[in-house]
Amino acid sequence: MPTAAVIGSGIAGLAAAIRLAVKGYEVEVFEANDYAGGKLSSFENTGPDGGLYRFDAGPSLFTMPHLVDELFRLAGRNPADYFEYIRLDETCRYFWDDGARLTAWADHHRFGQEIETVLGEPAEHLHAHLRDSAVKYNVTEKLFLHRSLHKAATWLNRDALRGYLNLPRLGVFGTMNGANERRFQHPKLVQLFNRYATYNGSDPYQTPATLNIIPHLEYNIGAFFPKDGMIGITRSLVRLAEDLGVRFYFNTRVTEIVTNGKKVVDIRTVPKRIGYPVDVVVSNMDVVSTFRRLLPTARQPERILRQPKSSSGLIFYWGINRQFAELGLHNIFFSNDYRAEFDCLFNQQTLSDDPTIYLNITSKHKPDDAPPGCENWFILLNAPNNTGQDWDALIAQARQNVIRKLSRNLDVDVSSLIQSESVLDPRSIEARTSSSQGALYGNSSNNRFAAFLRHANFSRQFSNLFFVGGSVHPGGGIPLCLLSAKIATELVEEIR
Ligand code: FAD
Repeated sequence: MPTAAVIGSGIAGLAAAIRLAVKGYEVEVFEANDYAGGKLSSFENTGPDGGLYRFDAGPSLFTMPHLVDELFRLAGRNPADYFEYIRLDETCRYFWDDGARLTAWADHHRFGQEIETVLGEPAEHLHAHLRDSAVKYNVTEKLFLHRSLHKAATWLNRDALRGYLNLPRLGVFGTMNGANERRFQHPKLVQLFNRYATYNGSDPYQTPATLNIIPHLEYNIGAFFPKDGMIGITRSLVRLAEDLGVRFYFNTRVTEIVTNGKKVVDIRTVPKRIGYPVDVVVSNMDVVSTFRRLLPTARQPERILRQPKSSSGLIFYWGINRQFAELGLHNIFFSNDYRAEFDCLFNQQTLSDDPTIYLNITSKHKPDDAPPGCENWFILLNAPNNTGQDWDALIAQARQNVIRKLSRNLDVDVSSLIQSESVLDPRSIEARTSSSQGALYGNSSNNRFAAFLRHANFSRQFSNLFFVGGSVHPGGGIPLCLLSAKIATELVEEIR
């Protein structure tokens, strides 16, 4: 039986392990932390009277669940035996400091009515935008998302031809903001749709309009909520992997990938692994960290590794001693000057004093995530990636800014309601997951060539070394990480 070692149990590492096990590999997963999932993990905090608040540590928005289901089906299992989720009726609630409030409904017609009533924007603008988003998605899906961009076969087939013919429709040459300003009359709607650039850690004023494919995922395919919270994705995939015979080694950090000529022959770990040579190695560790730390003497693909990184995040996890009827599962409190906010993030590498606040409350759908009468608030601010800023000072300032903005919008003193608190910042994201500069999504997509400047899912130097996860093709976020595992393990087949 051929053997495979997977470095890291992030979502892409789990998916790769499952796919390799299904292909008949004996798979071992080595994970530096004492838990699985990397960014997709969970923890609990205790309130003053012993009540428990549960938090998903990282991702909170679940799209394209069929990519998770596919893993169960591949293994001949019924997805529902492992993992359940619901489709959300309401995508997000939006708040502005001037008192405007808007709910983005999953139902396009209802959302269209909402934007007409609240903002006076013709519903047809929304419908046209979502149609265009679907077109962009359909053109790029097969070409960019399901295949390696670094193999000739990708560029010499009918899908590729369709892609070339539709290139003008992809919006490669303009920015997302430019396209959205042409589409929508109301600046609040431009802001709302510009926000989708942050779904892969980019800047809407720089990223190409191609990224207007992202709303397709949320509005046309849908936004979902796993019944056990986001951690349910990780737990169910670990269970499936174990059922398939995958062996996990937690608290086991890989320190070196051992090579011999053009092949990878072994891995070194702490604590020491007593095993056998490996036929295939799949690294789910950030590709920059893989090269710098595990392959320091190999040729470093500098051009790729030095690409600017995506934004990071500053997250406050607050146990809140009250419930708010006006809040939903996903809530956004927008900044008053979005352009200035992104200038801070990407040009000045700092936080804005008026940040857009994303507030996620899983206890809205899963009441046992907070004690009775309380809510678990996950507050995410987009943050610059880590370049050695004075994070302690920035966090203290941001905390005040968040409390001020939320207190004003919700007409209550939020600070008096905080019962428990944890913070995650770009430094701790980097330390916990080895993500270069704490970037949430690998490289940024702030230029039109970004897709071509992510590392391939295979190594050009070592024939049996593969890469999966948010730092390599096709990019970050749960769906793309899952696709990276699909592409990489299909490439593994080629060397068998
Ligand atoms: P990671 O999660 O980065 O995990 C890598 C794993 O490898 C870690 O467990 C790490 O410990 C392990 N590892 C690293 N080095 C070694 C080593 N040497 N030896 C052994 N193990 C090692 N995506 C969405 O789709 N929706 C969202 O709403 C969303 N929101 C987000 C919010 C936050 C706060 C964060 C942090 C991310 C968010 N993302 C979201 C992005 C998403 O979480 C990531 O793109 C995805 O989870 C990354 O998965 P990955 O497979 O690349 O691995």
